[in-house]
Amino acid sequence: MKKLLNLDKKNLLKKLWKADPKLYEILKNSKDLEKVRDRVFDYLSFIERDYFNLHGNSKLNNLHRVEKSNAKRCIKAFKNFIRTEHEKITKFSFLETLFKLANNKLDVSKVEKAFLVELVFLLKGVHGRVFKDVKENHFFANLSKRNKAIKRSKQLDDYSSMILKHVEKYKSGLTTSVVKKREKLKNKILKYFNAKSLDWNDYKWHFKNIITDLDTLSSLVKLSKKEKEALTLAKKDGIPFQITPHYLSLFNEKGRTETDRVMRTLVMPSFNYSESVYENRNNMLNMDFMDEHSTSPIDCVTRRYPQILILKPFDSCPQICVYCQRNWEVKELKKAPKTREKIEKALKWIKKNKNIKEVLVTGGDPLTLDNSYLEWLFKYLDKIDHVQRIRVGTRTLVTVPQRINEGFLNLLKKYNKIGKQEICIVTHFEHALELSPDSLKAIDKIRKLGVSVYNQQVYTYYTSRRFETCALRKMLKVSGVDPYYSFNTKGKKETLDFRVPIARIEQERKEEARLIPGLERTDEPVFNVPRLGKFQLVSWQDHELIMLMPDGARVYTFYPWESKYILMDPYNYKDVPIYDYLKRLDKDGEDIREYSSIWYYF
Ligand code: SF4
Repeated sequence: MKKLLNLDKKNLLKKLWKADPKLYEILKNSKDLEKVRDRVFDYLSFIERDYFNLHGNSKLNNLHRVEKSNAKRCIKAFKNFIRTEHEKITKFSFLETLFKLANNKLDVSKVEKAFLVELVFLLKGVHGRVFKDVKENHFFANLSKRNKAIKRSKQLDDYSSMILKHVEKYKSGLTTSVVKKREKLKNKILKYFNAKSLDWNDYKWHFKNIITDLDTLSSLVKLSKKEKEALTLAKKDGIPFQITPHYLSLFNEKGRTETDRVMRTLVMPSFNYSESVYENRNNMLNMDFMDEHSTSPIDCVTRRYPQILILKPFDSCPQICVYCQRNWEVKELKKAPKTREKIEKALKWIKKNKNIKEVLVTGGDPLTLDNSYLEWLFKYLDKIDHVQRIRVGTRTLVTVPQRINEGFLNLLKKYNKIGKQEICIVTHFEHALELSPDSLKAIDKIRKLGVSVYNQQVYTYYTSRRFETCALRKMLKVSGVDPYYSFNTKGKKETLDFRVPIARIEQERKEEARLIPGLERTDEPVFNVPRLGKFQLVSWQDHELIMLMPDGARVYTFYPWESKYILMDPYNYKDVPIYDYLKRLDKDGEDIREYSSIWYYF
């Protein structure tokens, strides 16, 4: 695969025609586009019939059923690409591009390598040539039951060794060598702020000493020239930047390494990010990707589902994540106003609406607020009989676990009423390296109260290597946290660095998550559609690949989750090209052969 990815466009085009000479002939010898459309469609249907075994003597009949099933999906994708309705939606004609390329009426420079490579793989799939080198295994043939089991058990051992080989590559924040280094940095931070070790346990001390400027940051950890330039630009463009002392202690003091690249990326705005946010603001572009304005029936409330809504009492967090979906409204801590009056109105609204069974208190991060405010809020919700669950969405377990103090634990104890109303925590660990002994202590205290802790991970480039998210799931589960969702990154321009193709998240689910025990992979991969909310990525009914663009990006249509109740317009989404993603992994030292089936996730 690497060889193919490195070919120039001319050679890729040759490969493409060689992958399907018959298709090339149709494109070459048809008079006009509509003739081509008919002929290509018929040609694909003809091949498809073979996979349905309608032509008894075709050599395709004898392919393995797994290969046939994959081929049918490739044919469906190809047929979707040539549909006129999809041309209208995407304002691009895939077929016309191929037609012109075959007849030398379009220069190959007009399409990206990503487009050509994806097509070569697609045609390989159409012709049933994907699994030809994969070993067949007939575990259950002609052996005694015990021998079948022994053979199968051996195969399962091999899978497990493969999982371990990968998972063990990723250190966690509980790995002894990592803990030791972090302890050293923690002491340096305390010294810098003239503090005592007891101060470390006080969240208010962390809040007071949140790092918001380059000078402080570079006095404590080594920054590269690029990182410094990016932070200077962020400051100039007014992009909020906040790191808690606790989170900074998770950095590597001597400069970016494998054990802190994810943390640095999550809190230090990159050049691309700052430039893009600045441009969006200047052009008055709407950064509210989820269109929360259109789903807010009353201030501070977002409602996308029948029985649960989001309540946002505060627009800031102790620490600001670069990829935050609410980056359009999350403000610096000192600039965020308290909204008690508006929240009171929102609570009254919830009280009147008996359909609301669950309230997700989020923000910003509600644990930025003090315990007396939270007590007032929980007490109000507790008195609303129809609210059966309060979810507290907080990243403080990661960013400042000291916030889980006695006062807050008492609130959890008081308002978690078995049989009447549940209170639970939904947190946000991105990587196993974000765990720390302090986080572990905080989780333990919550769990001892019988309160559940769930995790929502955003599946970004920095957490997407083979089995990297499995390493997180495993660490979370033994630490008392249940993986709940893994989110596809939002299609926001400013967060391009973080984005991962949908095909990769589907591949992760099938080839990695599926291999670990069920209780560890309790999260669901989801795609968040503006206004409508989450769509299950593993559910084929929810989405469909409809187009391949000249830059190699796929376009998907997402069908609303309530499609069986009401006909609503689907949502169309342009993904990031698989080719670009693989090239980036390759540059970062990954063996991209391990990802080679990614092209066949639709
Ligand atoms: S903690 Fe949550 S709300 Fe706050 S910046 Fe991070 S992702 Fe956004």
